[in-house]
Amino acid sequence: MKLVTFLKNGVPTLGRVEGAELVDLSVAGVPQDMIGLLSADAAVRATAGAVSGPQMSLADVELCAPILRPPKILAVGLNYRDHIEETGLETPKVPLIFNKQSTAATGPYAPIHLPRVSDKLDYEGELGVVIGRRCRHVPRDRAHEVIAGYAVCNDVSVRDWQMRSQTFTMGKSFDTHSPFGPWITTSDDIPDPHALDLKTWVNDELRQNSNTRHLVFNCFDLVEHLSTAFTLEPGDLIVTGTPSGVGIGFDPKKFLSAGDRVRIEIEGLGAIENTVIAEPASTTLI
Ligand code: ZN
Repeated sequence: MKLVTFLKNGVPTLGRVEGAELVDLSVAGVPQDMIGLLSADAAVRATAGAVSGPQMSLADVELCAPILRPPKILAVGLNYRDHIEETGLETPKVPLIFNKQSTAATGPYAPIHLPRVSDKLDYEGELGVVIGRRCRHVPRDRAHEVIAGYAVCNDVSVRDWQMRSQTFTMGKSFDTHSPFGPWITTSDDIPDPHALDLKTWVNDELRQNSNTRHLVFNCFDLVEHLSTAFTLEPGDLIVTGTPSGVGIGFDPKKFLSAGDRVRIEIEGLGAIENTVIAEPASTTLI
């Protein structure tokens, strides 16, 4: 099942994608928010899968981030063998975990802001894992039980802010810097999350071309590792790392400019496409 959050008369509403069509899930018996649906029992999810109610063309609706505000966005650095080679760094012995703030979440086709304070804006195409069950101390051989689904993510990065302090938090958390979607594909539709082609284009230039089989720590390893320390909750998003081909890896470096269009596609999960714009004056809130 492919689950979206879309705007209906300006109100975020759940939908299910069927080819080029969208089925409105705002019907009795189905939770009315994504986290509620992802954490519902199998019978409720089956109801959502069977709704045949009003349909509309996917092209006619505006998609939001599938989860408007994920409780946590957890990301992983240096987790593809080809990307590690590109950086010249050593393969981490334990996953290199950092947070992106949940306020960075944005829609699959929403603009990405080029910050007022930097011109070192970069993209990272990544597989996102969405948690569906409150859990802790999950062994990797049971991790599949707590994963609700998968999505395409862009771990947008402000390289100078990322590198100039001991942690990545600031440089990874600018507003609009966590686009994901276009929908959540439930895990029953993805028999093996570690065999998916992942491609990133900037404008029409293919920059990243890899496969999730090259992950150092795979989705299940990450769930085990993270849940050793803290509770994972429905709607938490784990952004699993990026392969080679990020802008900073080129010589000369290929940072993003206003007007650039970043498209990330993962086999079986669809594609997100975000255009870079100069940070608008309206972001000042005081
Ligand atoms: Zn990343």
